[in-house]
Amino acid sequence: METLRIPRITQDSCKKHLQRGRSLGFVPTMGALHDGHLNLVKRAKMENDVTIVSIFLNPLQFGPAEDLDKYPRDIEQDTKKLREQDIDILFLPDTNLMYPLSFSSHIEVGPLSERLCGKFRPGHFNGVATVVAKLFNIINPTRAYFGQKDFQQTVIIKRMAKDLNFDTDIIVCPTIREHDGLAMSSRNAYLDKEERSTACVLYQCLNNASESVKSGMTSGEKIREVMRQTLLSEPLISQIDYASAYNPETLGEVDEIKGEALLAVAVRIGDTRLIDNIHLIL
Ligand code: AMP
Repeated sequence: METLRIPRITQDSCKKHLQRGRSLGFVPTMGALHDGHLNLVKRAKMENDVTIVSIFLNPLQFGPAEDLDKYPRDIEQDTKKLREQDIDILFLPDTNLMYPLSFSSHIEVGPLSERLCGKFRPGHFNGVATVVAKLFNIINPTRAYFGQKDFQQTVIIKRMAKDLNFDTDIIVCPTIREHDGLAMSSRNAYLDKEERSTACVLYQCLNNASESVKSGMTSGEKIREVMRQTLLSEPLISQIDYASAYNPETLGEVDEIKGEALLAVAVRIGDTRLIDNIHLIL
């Protein structure tokens, strides 16, 4: 495994692989790697000649009151895990090279960025789209792998890739969960013992809603109520940002569930913000 830090050198190296006819599989991450990340890496390895993983804590996607400073970092363990997966390139870009003082261009994906998490994290998805566009331009991956756990992110990245003609297939992989159903996340490390046992309520909430839809409750309002009631049963939930049924393409809230729906939830447990979703196909 080669570790590269300089965008220009990484770009040259990726270009050489492509010129030799090799496909490039790319997995962008912010580090503190868990089995959710590693599942993306395995899929990328399976489907491509060369596998590249980036670890970059992108300051552009964190709001001023968010957790950039305390975000978990463990580059030694991450490197070990990636070496064990036998990937080809670990791209660890230097923040000053990604965003020199003169940096002033941004990608804005439009209304999709303002729904769900966008309402509570203004600017977040512009930060995500901007860094992913930069990483795609550096690497020019044949395929890039994203987790369904961040469903809105996948919709936005697909939109951006299409709108801006990126020559990269966006592959979405299933959410990997702990034994009690909690979606794996680097942020789960913030939870204390009590908060951790409360956290599986997100998945319960999605499952209750999913069961209700399957047994004929298709009113968006009623489903919201089922979700809220499940979440309110846990006193450690300090805030519900959203819990509802959405159109998986437009991310608009639905009044009536027909054919398919995205059931999605975002809550705070103590200071920790957690999200989860199920893509329900009837
Ligand atoms: P992050 O490091 O949080 O930016 O995540 C990097 C990639 O891993 C994103 O595409 C995430 O959606 C994906 N990911 C994070 N957690 C999970 C999970 N539990 N299951 C599947 N993919 C995940």
